[in-house]
Amino acid sequence: MPNNSRKKQLLLHACCATCSGFLAGQLSADYQVAIFYYNPNIYPQSEYVRRRDEAKKYFARQECRFIESDSDHNKWREMIVGLEREPERGKRCEFCYRERLEQAARYARDHGFDAFASTLAISPHKDAQLINRLGKELEQKYGVEFLAGDWKKQDGFKRAMDLSHEHNFYRQNYCGCEYSRLEK
Ligand code: SF4
Repeated sequence: MPNNSRKKQLLLHACCATCSGFLAGQLSADYQVAIFYYNPNIYPQSEYVRRRDEAKKYFARQECRFIESDSDHNKWREMIVGLEREPERGKRCEFCYRERLEQAARYARDHGFDAFASTLAISPHKDAQLINRLGKELEQKYGVEFLAGDWKKQDGFKRAMDLSHEHNFYRQNYCGCEYSRLEK
């Protein structure tokens, strides 16, 4: 992922190396990509550290900037009070996507990025349409372009998994929060 200062600057919200490695590589053809790691939903802390460190190591090798934003899981739990029993892809997830996207949008605006995006939509377990709608709402609110895309197209997830196998990334078997962990 070579640095090219003439390219537009893209802040790419990422949740793990598996989803972000492939997508960052694709987007770096047109953008100067910086990774934004903000995932207060991930539980327990050891899991958070494991996912973060995997991604951080990979992007260091790619010479790609890695920004970690404070992630307070207790605060996140306070925010989702009342939504604990929601099924995966329900209202709790909508809140969770919005919270992470909004932090990315705010950071992008405050730090002069041209656009922001998220790797969340690449997973077949996530609602890409909803994520793109939320991203577009935040684009209006923060005045920074949201790069909406159906990253699952053209075998996006499969290619992400291929890259993950190639680099032997850690691949979690639940989305992130304790509620998704219990559903497994
Ligand atoms: S299942 Fe995933 S997206 Fe939904 S609230 Fe939990 S961590 Fe967030």
